[in-house]
Amino acid sequence: MPRKGSKQLILEFFLANLGNVLESKDIQKASGGAVEWARRVRELRNEEGFQILSHKDRADLKPNQYLLETSVRLPAFSRAISKETRAYVLERNGYTCQMCGVAAGDPDPLGGPRTVRLTMGHIIDKSKSGDDSPGNLRAVCTNCNEGLQNTAPPKPDRVHLLAQIRRATRPDQEVVLQWLLQKFRLDTFRK
Ligand SMILES: [Zn+2]
Repeated sequence: MPRKGSKQLILEFFLANLGNVLESKDIQKASGGAVEWARRVRELRNEEGFQILSHKDRADLKPNQYLLETSVRLPAFSRAISKETRAYVLERNGYTCQMCGVAAGDPDPLGGPRTVRLTMGHIIDKSKSGDDSPGNLRAVCTNCNEGLQNTAPPKPDRVHLLAQIRRATRPDQEVVLQWLLQKFRLDTFRK
């Protein structure tokens, strides 16, 4: 059985059983007995974007169980970057768009119905041989990512910034301090 054939058989088995927990032995059987059925499942998930869940994603699944709940595939860019990398980059960037400065959960500055969502932007574009490593990624809001917001405001100057922080309430100053300590990986501030 050629490899492509077994992968297609596995996909058809999952699609015929949307929402049903499937056992390893049944997936292997559906694949035509492919020895490398688990690798094919990983390819469907990682390369083709099918959201096949395993015990690593869902606590109620056993290690030999898999579940596909939707035939919707994830777009290429969001599946190339691991959850860990995304979390790391978002944390490093303070959950703030590195182009326009809005934060995750802020109201959409363009007036859209949804709050700001952050996505992964490439510093050096993939078309120019940029990669998906954390060093080449930054948090970018969906507006900036789609080029809707080309007028990025200039970065605040330090005089203005410090003046704002000096005027802020002590609790707000502590939030700023905590964020800076975390950003620069220093010890936690103790009150
Ligand atoms: Zn933005």
